[in-house]
Amino acid sequence: MTPTVLFIGGLGRSGSTLLEQALGELDGVQGLGETVHLWNRGVQLDERCGCGQPFSACEFWTRVGDDAFGGWRSLDVARVEWLRATIDRTRYIPLMPVRSWRPRYAALLEEYVGYYRAIYSAVGRSTGASVVVDSSKHPSLAYALTTGGLDLRVVQVIRDPRAVAHSWTKTVRRPEATSEAADLMTVYRPSRSALLWDSHNLALRALPRLGTPTLCLRYEDFVADPAATLQQVMSFAGLDASVLPVDGNRLTVSPQHTVSGNPARFRTGEVRIAASDDWRSALSRPARAVVTALTLPQLHRYGYPVTDRSPEPR
Ligand SMILES: [Zn+2]
Repeated sequence: MTPTVLFIGGLGRSGSTLLEQALGELDGVQGLGETVHLWNRGVQLDERCGCGQPFSACEFWTRVGDDAFGGWRSLDVARVEWLRATIDRTRYIPLMPVRSWRPRYAALLEEYVGYYRAIYSAVGRSTGASVVVDSSKHPSLAYALTTGGLDLRVVQVIRDPRAVAHSWTKTVRRPEATSEAADLMTVYRPSRSALLWDSHNLALRALPRLGTPTLCLRYEDFVADPAATLQQVMSFAGLDASVLPVDGNRLTVSPQHTVSGNPARFRTGEVRIAASDDWRSALSRPARAVVTALTLPQLHRYGYPVTDRSPEPR
């Protein structure tokens, strides 16, 4: 049986890595990382899995590939990447729920989603997990997956867009990269990340209209009270929320088979869940003003102040 798919959506740099790591420590839960990048960064480029092994040497992903496709070599990865580039796009989100309008598009979408279903099912069979966590984040993939007959539940993780914008301006090395060309994470100007923050969160907010269970949580609430947020997420995923993976704000992380994601996923051992507020001093006033203006309508909705204060309690 295909496990429940807990999809973490939102704009990158919103603090979802810690949430995924915490969930991955639970019995019956398997964290997968960003499966949207599995095809290229895992299968084609053989980047390192969260367990530290190259993708091709990771026993977990080898087992999953054997079960899902009779081995990764039997999979036409170029075809999956072509489908991803062709149909898994934000601009096609309005088409996804009304597939009957475009039969050819619907057929490609069905084929594309089938690859993800094969992965989730193989993970369920090989690990016995009842919940898999996919932290791909892209709303377009969340919409695509709604068409796949899955028990899909979406957690929208949101963070103050000024903090997110600051994070996207930093130069961050990707320790898993296998080529120099891909060894740095993408950098965005604050105006660009603000517009992406808008579009990602607007799209995710509309998901419940399709009947997809969606839980919205703020990173700031998670770091203020990790136990309360995790209880909420675990109940949402249908998990027993009586045994938590955290002790106060301490989390002990073991190596997890996350296929791609923030370099923080390689951090293991005891991790402290704490707010990181360096953006308040590091993000320039003009940049802050631009991000605030571009995200203004949604700032209010999510309880973020226009001025430099902490978020309102919800
Ligand atoms: Zn691994």
